[in-house]
Order: sequence, then C-alpha cells, then structure tokens
Amino acid sequence: MSNKSKLAIRGGEAVRKQYLPYGKQWIDDDDIQAVVNVLRSDYITTGPAITKFEEKVANYVGSKYAVAFSSGTAALHAACYAAGVCEDDEVITTPLTFPATANCILYLGGKPVFADVDYNTMNINPSSIRKLITDKTKAVITVHFTGQPVDIDEIDHIAKNHNLIVIEDATHALGASYRSKKIGTFSDMTMFSFHPVKHITTGEGGMITTNCRELKEKLVLFRTHGITRDRIKLIDDHGPWYYEMQFLGYNYRMTDFQASLGISQLKKLDHFISERKKIVSLYNRAFKDLNCLKIPSINIDRQSSWHLYVIRLDVEKLKVGRREIFDALKAENIGVNVHYIPVYYHPYYQKIGYNRGACPLAEQIYEEIITLPLFPSMSQDDAFDVINAVKKVISFYCEQ
Ligand SMILES: *Cc1c(COP(=O)(O)O)cnc(C)c1O
Repeated sequence: MSNKSKLAIRGGEAVRKQYLPYGKQWIDDDDIQAVVNVLRSDYITTGPAITKFEEKVANYVGSKYAVAFSSGTAALHAACYAAGVCEDDEVITTPLTFPATANCILYLGGKPVFADVDYNTMNINPSSIRKLITDKTKAVITVHFTGQPVDIDEIDHIAKNHNLIVIEDATHALGASYRSKKIGTFSDMTMFSFHPVKHITTGEGGMITTNCRELKEKLVLFRTHGITRDRIKLIDDHGPWYYEMQFLGYNYRMTDFQASLGISQLKKLDHFISERKKIVSLYNRAFKDLNCLKIPSINIDRQSSWHLYVIRLDVEKLKVGRREIFDALKAENIGVNVHYIPVYYHPYYQKIGYNRGACPLAEQIYEEIITLPLFPSMSQDDAFDVINAVKKVISFYCEQ
C-alpha cells in the first residue's frame, strides 16, 4: 500500500506533515533526575524506592497494599496464582483486550472463557458472565476498556453469589473512578501497567493493589521465586543464612530506578489525566454530529481516565470498510490503531481450540473501531490535525 494512492481521496497534501503517534510517554527533567539519584545510590533493585512506590500507589487508589512487578503481565500472572487458578479451572474474561489478560490464565493451566461485551460501552457484559458460570469457574478478570469502569456492582454481586475471585485488569483505568471512588479497591486484586503508552510509566512495570493481607503475601513471594526469609513462616531453620523456597515462583521484580521513575511520574498523574480529558472534549465536540461515526459512549455514574479514544464507524452507511478509513487516516499521518483484535482470533488461541463466533458483539465491534491519538503531551494543534483528518476522510466516504 503506498501512501500516495491513499492521499488520492482529495488529491492533495496530508493534513499533517509529521506522523502523530497514538500514544506516547511524558518524561521530564524531574523524572530523569529521579532515575539518576537511584543509579548513584547503594540499591538499584529491591531497595527503598520499591516500597515507597508501592505505598504511593496504594495511597493514590486507597488500597491497603500494593505489590510492584516487572510488568503488567507478570502482575496478572501473580494475581491468577494468588487467586488459586489451577489446571482446568475456568476463568471468565473479555475478548476485547490485549492477549496478556487471558494468557495469564493459560500460564497456570486454566481455561479462559470469553464473555461477550456490551455493544455500546464495549465492556464485559455481566449477563454474559452469568451465562458462562460452571462448577469449574474460579475467577473473573474484567478490563476497564479505554479507562471506563465496568459494571462493578453487578459483577461483584455475581461473584459473591458464585464464590468467584475478581481480578480487575485496570491497565487503562489508573485514576478512573466508579461511583466517586477510585479504581483499585473494588475487587480482590486490581492490576495496573506502567508500559510507556499507559497513564504513567516505569519503562516496563506493573502493580497489584489489594486489601487482603494473605493475597499480598502470596504476591510478594511469587515475585521472588516463592522464597521467604521470614523466620516465622519457615518450615525448617538451618541457621541465620537460611531461606526457603516454598512454592514455584518467578523473578518478576521491578528495579529501584524504575520505581523511582514511577514515584516521579505519579506526581503528574492527575495532570496527565486532565490533559487527556481536554483532548477528549475537543474530539467529542468535533465528532458528535458527524455522520457515519459514533463517539465513545459514557456511563454517567463513572469517570473514565481516558487511556484510549476509540471511534466507531457506521460500516453500513460508509461506502468502504474500516480498512480503507484506517489507511486513509494513516496517509494523513495520523497514528491510528485498533484496540483490540478479539483475543480468540489470534492463531495461538485458534490452535488450542477456540472458534470464531463465540462473542458476536465483540466481533462486530472489532469491524467498527479505530483508536485515535491520545496522550497528555499532545497539543491542541495536534488534536485539530486529528479532527481535520477524520472529517476529511469520513466526509469523503460517508453516504450522508
Ligand atoms: C498493556 C496491557 C497489558 C499488559 O501490560 P504490560 O505491562 O505491557 O505487560 C494487559 N492488559 C491490557 C488491557 C493492556 O492494555
């Protein structure tokens, strides 16, 4: 595909000269200094910065505990372990997510069961969860898609009735709230990621927040080989050098210089979110009356932290499919993306026996979605470039 041919829709120049990515980290001098300070100190891993970062995140979301990991994926793996997911256990989750949300179930020999989503919010639908519960169901992993919280109360109610553990993949939802309370304490465990496209970054990194001490202790051991040095917990004791590996854990530790970056980033989180919201209002205002396109659907009892801005195409009315619109926006130098390919479409999932057709709404949504650029350091001019490009492309292809 050549960019030239796609530009031919108006025969003219691209709206933007320079490519605008869909997401990007914000690193300033304070962040750099925070990392340098740790690099010059005694501990560059498993030192004081980890504990401090954990405390700060727990404080921010209002949880009792927080446990840092080397990635969000490692954190999900640990959460599934702590939840007791074992061979042949079923765990219900959404197909509209990054594969890591479901992979963590497979790591432990469990079986991901995909529940369909709500057509408007694109979040997992509580009634689809209810229909899939069996004797083998152990847990539910929800995803606050794009940053808008799921129907927490309904899901909590189902989980209590069936004795299920709930893990929230809140990768998109750091700083989001549900009925005026921050995401991070609603369920047994909540996972956050600090990958550079997420709200705050540590390069790679993740965190689990929980109010349960027993879960917290399992998570801490899982992060470091299943090894404990706690004299009270030892089964045996050979002397002062003695430590004990009590189950099969991993090395999923975050470094101290990453944690220090995280502490510095966390100070700016509320500012990052408000910058994201400014862009979102510009987008919403510009697109709400545009034909052939729908803006994100918002529930008024919850506050999104706006990790992603996903538009929906009216593929019935458009003369072309999502592919043409996507290519045309790319040709305008707009870094569009698609979140997400339904997890069970991936060849690996097909190979292990999943079939298309399982979640018709998620599959239909997949044909309609395009993610537009959204990150805190985007300027108003950047946002207007995106708006102009979308208007140009949509008005060209829309039947009206
Ligand atoms: C990014 C992401 C993950 C994985 O987090 P990593 O820190 O990259 O391992 C998991 N789930 C969702 C929904 C994500 O967006």
